[in-house]
Amino acid sequence: MYDIAIIGGGPGGLTAGMYAGRARLRTIIIDKGLPGGQMQNTLEIENYPGYKMITGPQLSELMYEHTLEFGTEWKQAEAVGIDLTERVKIIKLGDGTAIKARALIIATGAQPRKLNVPGEQQYAGRGVSYCATCDGAFFRNKEVVVVGGGDSAVEEGVFLTRFASRVTIIHRRDQLRAAPILQERAFANPKIHVLWDTVVEEIVGDAKVSKVKVKNVKTGEDSALDTDGVFIYIGYLPNTEFLKHTGLLNASGYIETNSNMATKIPGVFAIGDVRDTALRQIVTAAGDGAVAAMSAYHYLESW
Ligand code: NAP
Repeated sequence: MYDIAIIGGGPGGLTAGMYAGRARLRTIIIDKGLPGGQMQNTLEIENYPGYKMITGPQLSELMYEHTLEFGTEWKQAEAVGIDLTERVKIIKLGDGTAIKARALIIATGAQPRKLNVPGEQQYAGRGVSYCATCDGAFFRNKEVVVVGGGDSAVEEGVFLTRFASRVTIIHRRDQLRAAPILQERAFANPKIHVLWDTVVEEIVGDAKVSKVKVKNVKTGEDSALDTDGVFIYIGYLPNTEFLKHTGLLNASGYIETNSNMATKIPGVFAIGDVRDTALRQIVTAAGDGAVAAMSAYHYLESW
């Protein structure tokens, strides 16, 4: 029996593990992938205090080593089910085993939202990508489109100009959502072009992607754009499928918490991108993790 089980080992889960370990609580972090979560897919991070520039995999490794120094355990496994009906929480793992803990911190993050247009699934890995860091280098001297208008679309669009000869950002409105500093960088980059008021209706090709069919939402005009790659950055969906029956989720599938990161089930906390929150950053996930670990510590004091 653990004092605290943490599901998800991104910056939130790792920080919670660090604080819980420091509080001498027997703690385990369960994650199906590598430590760091979405940081693993981020090439450069320039807004984590103390590091003017660090790669995502480097920061992941540093956080992981730092957390394990305080005695917290790491287990690579997928949480496929959960029982929160009793005081002891039970996490069912993909290998058929289960982990029991007195308190639970959910830090499962989110995954890229799909466009849900014809061709998207068919060409995934053959021109369609959700990770410029992973796949950008395959598009050297090629033309790519980036779908979306938020921080991710604009930041990754600028990143892709290192490889691609031309990057067209396709955005459904006439204004980007991205932070001003990111917009400034994009507009100053001669390789970046923006197709405003436009939605992708279909991704077409043969063996690989060759074009996207688009529609201007203001004029209703249909057209097609030749492209070698389609990078989709239209936001994220929370990884909460295994929590559907728990009553913890809001209508969008995110977990509601109070400012102590407590959910409505005593002893169950949620942090980072999976939480119903206004800002989803590495630094906010880490902050959530510290708060949740201390809240769990106080909860366990009167267990
Ligand atoms: P986001 O902020 O939710 O933006 C999603 C973008 O995709 C919006 O521009 C949205 O258009 C568009 N969109 C959504 N659904 C669409 C659809 N079905 N078809 C076409 N376009 C669609 O997502 P994000 O950019 O991935 O960012 C997620 C979070 O991570 C944000 O909180 C962001 O600040 C943070 N982040 C921060 C940094 C950084 O600080 N350096 C970097 C990356 C991400 P509308 O604008 O019309 O809604």
